Amino acid sequence: MPKRIRYLDRNKEPFIPPQERKKSFKEYALGYSVNLAVDEAGRCLFCKDAEKRCIKGCPIHVDIPGFIKKILEGDLVGAYKKIIETDIFPSVCGRVCPQERQCEGACILYYDTVRGRKNKGLPVSIGALEKFVGDFIRISGIEIEEIPEPPTGKRVAIIGAGPAGLGCAYELALRGHEVHVYEALPKIGGVMTYGIPSARLSKEILDYEYERFRRLGVKFFFGKVVGRTLSLRELINKYDAVFIATGYGRGRLGLKGDNLKGVYSAIEVLMRVNLFGNRPDLGEKTVIVGGGFTAIDAAITSLRLGVETHVVYRRTRETSSARQEEWDHIMEEGAIVHWLTQPVEILGDNGRVKGIKCIKMELTEPDSSGRPKPVPVPNSEHTIECDSVIFAIGQDPNPVSYEDVPEIKRDKWGGIIVDEKYRTSANGVFAGGDVINGGDTVVRALAQGREAGKFIHEYLTES
Ligand code: FAD
Repeated sequence: MPKRIRYLDRNKEPFIPPQERKKSFKEYALGYSVNLAVDEAGRCLFCKDAEKRCIKGCPIHVDIPGFIKKILEGDLVGAYKKIIETDIFPSVCGRVCPQERQCEGACILYYDTVRGRKNKGLPVSIGALEKFVGDFIRISGIEIEEIPEPPTGKRVAIIGAGPAGLGCAYELALRGHEVHVYEALPKIGGVMTYGIPSARLSKEILDYEYERFRRLGVKFFFGKVVGRTLSLRELINKYDAVFIATGYGRGRLGLKGDNLKGVYSAIEVLMRVNLFGNRPDLGEKTVIVGGGFTAIDAAITSLRLGVETHVVYRRTRETSSARQEEWDHIMEEGAIVHWLTQPVEILGDNGRVKGIKCIKMELTEPDSSGRPKPVPVPNSEHTIECDSVIFAIGQDPNPVSYEDVPEIKRDKWGGIIVDEKYRTSANGVFAGGDVINGGDTVVRALAQGREAGKFIHEYLTES
């Protein structure tokens, strides 16, 4: 009998209700039960040319039908092994990847990428299935053997323990190289730890991944700021190769009045709460400026700190880079979003924020990013009263780790320029992740780290 195509009955992941979940930083998406996961896996059509659809849509090319089939066969260890062939962090990527623009956006149930036309239904919930597999293995305590090759005697230093640094560490450790990771903060994960709130990504997952790396023999040196505590030059002299994966973690401000008390970068707020359990003084009402991942995470955080939360964004919801479902989540929790609104000045009283002056925008023809360009609507200035302002308008790289080696070429923002093998212009020094791509996604940083690891291995074994 031909398979019945289940276009619309996608299984929803259960969530903690908004009024309840905003009281704590506990993860609010509860994940699939075994029954829901098996039922959802049963929606996959296993289309013949999945390589041109979901697999191509995934930046790291996970064998999606392959792992879904294993779920249906009841072989979750097999499903996990299939995923980690390319994606070493299923529990993380299942949670934080913007799947609707990647694998799920190319699922044949939703969009036929081969014929280029919209189909009838809702995509298979690939992210939730990936998360289910990763969580099942982690929670059940099953240890998956990841056995490194015999020691090569080569030593590599990695700067930064975010997804790019970890991807590279994994690749090199498996190939038998001695890997030392220097990290400024007290934990692994980079943005996964200090940026993304626990409500979206439980930190237990990173603790589990940390143990995985330790089993592989990777050594971590925390609280080491390369460029301050020790220098890149020292690392170049001490190791056979160095990989720089320091991200794009310097929060950006940039508006008249941003020196007032109560003005923060989102990165500062997130880092203080996520890493140090510290409570920034946001007053009773905050205004977050921006429309990407960072703005959403700042809103998730301020709502949980009990602060009235407004978000001003100069474009529309559809043209934002944040995930559509995450806008829903923060609005359900009470955030008030002011679309098509651009801040023009922060207003103060006695040195402290008292409001933000904004202007309404309208969208016109696309700009260089391909998105419709927002332009101001005349005479639409207005003020939103508030006690604090959080900027989530993008980040800059922090070049402190590589400024003592001037031969490393930088782009105009201060990020590192590499060739197709992730080589910088200094011999034996490689770089990857946000520091070379200007800020992208966890999965892309991870993919670049792993790819760079392969090229570093090539370099180490050729020389
Ligand atoms: P990072 O994750 O930034 O890691 C860099 C590491 O290097 C950090 O641990 C840092 O402490 C360390 N470091 C820096 N300088 C030094 C130094 N001098 N010495 C030693 N260590 C140093 N992407 C998604 O796919 N989904 C999301 O939901 C998502 N949400 C995000 C939310 C926020 C708030 C932000 C800022 C980004 C988000 N992103 C998301 C983007 C994603 O997190 C990044 O693209 C990704 O983390 C980049 O990885 P990376 O390893 O290059 O850098």
